Amino acid sequence: MLLIERRVSKRKAHEILKHGKVHGKSLTPKQRRYFGYIYGSSYGDDDDMSDFITVVTLLNKRTQEDSEKALLILQQMYALQSAVGLEFSTCIEKTTSTVYPGYRTAYANARRIVICADSMKNNFNNGTHSKTIRYNSQKIQHYTVVFLHEFAHVLDKRGLLMEDATKNDERIADAFAQQFIDKV
Ligand SMILES: [Zn+2]
Repeated sequence: MLLIERRVSKRKAHEILKHGKVHGKSLTPKQRRYFGYIYGSSYGDDDDMSDFITVVTLLNKRTQEDSEKALLILQQMYALQSAVGLEFSTCIEKTTSTVYPGYRTAYANARRIVICADSMKNNFNNGTHSKTIRYNSQKIQHYTVVFLHEFAHVLDKRGLLMEDATKNDERIADAFAQQFIDKV
């Protein structure tokens, strides 16, 4: 069992994720989860918030181009080796969301995020979000919350989960989005 210092800095956690190794050994899935959590969470060094704020600012604009820029930054932040695809679709085949009844919002797998056209609509933006995410809708667009939630599913499916305590996929994804929201 590897002993890890209680407070690993955010920068250090990011470095470890990038190299994929600690003390010369490849990270186990559990270690990847641990360092991924530290990197995104508010403890550790809070020296560089700029990436988090930039991602939210770009997503808040709700354009395809800005979303692609945000996705590139997210990929770098979490040291993903291969690109994540981003698609804007009518999502006719998708059943409506349980969080937003009546809307098809978005979905993701390990390689791709699909944003349904409903998520871009102005009326969606005034909707009421999942009770599990707390945010000020003056500062954060619902679209941004949805996008971050879906990106978390991409990370999740690549084995970079948040904390072991929250096993449920949706709660993990909401917790990830919350980390960004809390920084803005
Ligand atoms: Zn989800």
